[in-house]
Amino acid sequence: MNDSPETVVRNAYLPERDAVVDIAVADGRIEAIRPGIATTGETELDAEGALVSPGLIDAHVHLDMALSATGDRLPRNNEEWTGRIDAIERTAAYFADTEKAEIAANVREVANRAIANGVLHLRAHTYVDSVVGTSVVETVAEVLEAFDDRLDAEIVAFPQRGIRRDEGSADALNAALDAGADLVGGLDPATLNDDREGVIGTWFDIAKEHDADVDVHIHERGETGMGTLERLAGEAVDRGYEDRVTASHAYALADAATASEDGDANPDDSGDDPLDAAMETFDAADLRFVTCYGSTRRGMPVREFHDGGLVMAHGTDQVRDLWRPRGNVNALEAMGVESIKLDGYSTNSGLGHLWRLITTEGATVLGREDSYGIEPGTPADLVVHRTPSPQWAILERADPRYVLKEGRVVATDGTITDAPAN
Ligand code: ZN
Repeated sequence: MNDSPETVVRNAYLPERDAVVDIAVADGRIEAIRPGIATTGETELDAEGALVSPGLIDAHVHLDMALSATGDRLPRNNEEWTGRIDAIERTAAYFADTEKAEIAANVREVANRAIANGVLHLRAHTYVDSVVGTSVVETVAEVLEAFDDRLDAEIVAFPQRGIRRDEGSADALNAALDAGADLVGGLDPATLNDDREGVIGTWFDIAKEHDADVDVHIHERGETGMGTLERLAGEAVDRGYEDRVTASHAYALADAATASEDGDANPDDSGDDPLDAAMETFDAADLRFVTCYGSTRRGMPVREFHDGGLVMAHGTDQVRDLWRPRGNVNALEAMGVESIKLDGYSTNSGLGHLWRLITTEGATVLGREDSYGIEPGTPADLVVHRTPSPQWAILERADPRYVLKEGRVVATDGTITDAPAN
């Protein structure tokens, strides 16, 4: 934004430099980074030596059904799990029955909450089916448009009922890409849709037609899930879609890693670990992975994937909705929980990997790697934390002191200071 005020953030600790510096902002971008910048800023903020980071990233969230569990004394739809199909049909009924104004109000509230939490970039999986068509996508797109200058959001059109189970979902998916969606979504081609080859083919046909990237939910477990992930990678290469496909959840990776660890894996003839072989397939396709708060399985090989050069980011997924009653679109809170759930991630290096999930890895998934980070010339999307380092930011989960979008303060102490007009 050209009308951003000149701003200086003083005494900012940047881990990459292991130094406390001042950050000067002009025209919404970082202009200079060094100690003792002369006072030119209209706005002066003092980080007091605490961590300053780029905007946090939530690479997988369902804004459209956010807060659908709220409103009663007890969370709604929070009884015994009766299976995936029941949950899917309950979701379909929710979207068929809920007024656009209610969905829009919830998206607005959660978008503001994300920003107050320091989340400035996100990817929103958004519902389509044969009944509601593209109406939910249009509602979400309209709300996010009003947040355009404070939240970078991508919309994935998500045909949750399955394009084979719900006749008309594929048409809705296609139409959604003309109605404001950016990516092709989907789920579980081998199990829910019972047609792995056909469904993956359709996803890519639609993606290619719109020159859109792909981000699909793969909940499939064990060898079936690994088969789907490898097939997805193979199709990405065949279609020239290297680095344009994300597998969300990918529970099967945790299953495979755990099997390897327990010595249950069957090495192939070469004696190689099957997860290592799969990683080569994923690497060839530059397939990206997003694991999620509340659904990350024990053994998820975050460290192994990062160390192996594969991209793995994180999403908060649910925001108190009819699938799960938890979630606050708070990336730091999510990493605090992951540090408890995943073995070996409470160490400084483990917490460092969790930090990558919600920063640099997320930027790569969202295709923002070239403009992400605190360097001269990058957009001044900054989070001034209250804590000394990424590790403490996760452990303490303190509300950010300031959140800046393109140099403008949009939240202070966990509260939005500048909400968009409705
Ligand atoms: Zn999801």
